[in-house]
Amino acid sequence: MPNPKRRWSHARKGMRDANKALTPAATSVCPRCSASKRPHEICGNCGFYKGQQMLQSKPLS
Ligand SMILES: [Zn+2]
Repeated sequence: MPNPKRRWSHARKGMRDANKALTPAATSVCPRCSASKRPHEICGNCGFYKGQQMLQSKPLS
């Protein structure tokens, strides 16, 4: 079975983990209702994308 010959030192592990940070999710503003939404996705607040209604809102009562 192939095994590593030596263990990674603490410094080597630190160098590797220095590139593991997560980046925050991108956000954009809906041009219709100005709510915060993810880019290239339908707005969860008004259901519009590219100027068209993509989601039907539930009728009241
Ligand atoms: Zn919207």
